[in-house]
Amino acid sequence: MTSYSSIRAWQPGDGVTCSRTRQAPRDAPCGRPVAVYTTPAETVRYGRTLGTATRPPIERTFTVCANHIPGDLTPGEASAKARKAAAEALIVAHWDEYQALIEKYVADAQATRYEALPADLRALLASRD
Ligand SMILES: [Zn+2]
Repeated sequence: MTSYSSIRAWQPGDGVTCSRTRQAPRDAPCGRPVAVYTTPAETVRYGRTLGTATRPPIERTFTVCANHIPGDLTPGEASAKARKAAAEALIVAHWDEYQALIEKYVADAQATRYEALPADLRALLASRD
């Protein structure tokens, strides 16, 4: 996610729309604005052939809600990481139950496949078991 050179609390006059609103449906919904940050100055290259002309380095300022304060992870990445960690913790804590459930669902899937077979083939497979 975007790094910043400065960040401060939101104040009236900064605008009420989160700058990350367009990304919100993909990761986390927006709330009220809480912070304003500025990106490090960067040179913007443009021109008919890429990089043939430059403007002076510019800083950009963004108003953001609590869900979109910039950091190492986007809210979506943070959520995915949390879900993975929670699933792993639950599985390790209930390892035997987890393995028993896997065996049960594999057996259920096999039974469903067998039931769809013609009766003679099903009888042949049953006689082999
Ligand atoms: Zn937001």
